[in-house]
Amino acid sequence: SSPLSSPRIRAPTTDTRLDLTVKTGTVNVTLIPGDGIGPEIAQSVKEIFDVAKVPIKWEEVSVAPILVDGVSTIPADAISSIKKNTIALKGPLATPIGKGHVSLNLTLRRTFNLYANVRPCRSVEGYKTAYDNVDTVIIRENTEGEYSGIEHEVVDGVVQSIKLITHEASSRVARYAFEYARANNRLHVTAVHKAPIMKMSDGMFLRACRELAPEYPDVKYDEDLLDRVCLRIVQNPGPYADRVMVMPNVRRTLTGLGCVCVAARAGGGRGRGLADRVGSACAQLYGDILSDMCAGLIGGLGLTPSGNIGKDASIFEAVHGSAPDIAGKGMANPTALILSSAMMMRHMQMYDFADKIESATLRTIAEGNCTRDLRGKSSTQQFTQGIISKL
Ligand code: NAD
Repeated sequence: SSPLSSPRIRAPTTDTRLDLTVKTGTVNVTLIPGDGIGPEIAQSVKEIFDVAKVPIKWEEVSVAPILVDGVSTIPADAISSIKKNTIALKGPLATPIGKGHVSLNLTLRRTFNLYANVRPCRSVEGYKTAYDNVDTVIIRENTEGEYSGIEHEVVDGVVQSIKLITHEASSRVARYAFEYARANNRLHVTAVHKAPIMKMSDGMFLRACRELAPEYPDVKYDEDLLDRVCLRIVQNPGPYADRVMVMPNVRRTLTGLGCVCVAARAGGGRGRGLADRVGSACAQLYGDILSDMCAGLIGGLGLTPSGNIGKDASIFEAVHGSAPDIAGKGMANPTALILSSAMMMRHMQMYDFADKIESATLRTIAEGNCTRDLRGKSSTQQFTQGIISKL
């Protein structure tokens, strides 16, 4: 299908939040503007929603960290707002490096048990890169692996990070992937792994996927190695357009990053910056590697949305970070957050609003009204006005 047509990403029927709207009229949704460019891109979403008359009332909260027992954490009113509303749209949160700073992103994922991180990535018609056929969906386990954040110093100068994987969480995200495949008619699930090296952890993840596969006879199931998937997507993303890739949360060494850099450079614009960023990372996680690579193929991090799905709450956010280098300069691309808001609306069954806003956004890019990361000249505000004029 044309990249301009809406991907219509649907929440699997196992999700709890499918009956929110329509009946009740306006729905409260928590909005966390976040750090860096967060407030600028959140403003863009608010203006677009206002003009489109989306029946959502934003409950804006700050998650500026507070210190509890010397450790940074999220203020209680932000947590209670998400608990009450069960749906949130979130800007990026900067993670300070050092002692006493736990990532607030991880805190949110853990507090609400947001076990499935869904990252779709699709070519944007009218924005030329070396590829026009990217259409991938990555689903990453979101609560375990080295994101568990269990670290300690063994002796001075030697630290150990523990990778923790459970059968229960592997099985839960695998089921979500199969359900997602059905709900979105992408009837092919590929488990992406490094089981030849990570025999026990990835081995168990694969076992959990294999156990579930027979329950979904209509969904083709197979397995592939992370580095091979990176290589093949860079050679030709086409064959990945029919499937869902599911993977555990595991730290990787540098294998595969070569492909990421090639892909990011191919994307043009800020792709080169992305390549440098990825190339300078010493280690990454499977889903991060693949999704940054796919973002590089379509034009960069300014374009890729995501959803963090849990049983009792779901939080939608752009894949990118707070971009401190361009914060406050009116240069930020709000597309990734706008597309995240469209994912959020589909999750809430507000398909028409999602389609309308997503289509207006993609058409604005296609006509060349783009921010600088996409080789354009528009400010965040000019781009936002372009979208609004198409609603
Ligand atoms: P980043 O994604 O913030 O920036 C990487 C590069 O991409 C920068 O050059 C930036 O200008 C550019 N970029 C990113 N988003 C853009 C947009 N919407 N429009 C235009 N250009 C954009 O990554 P980073 O610099 O590694 O991280 C900065 C901070 O963000 C760190 O504190 C990190 O921990 C945090 N972070 C948060 C999240 C999250 O909240 N989910 C995700 C990633 C990083």
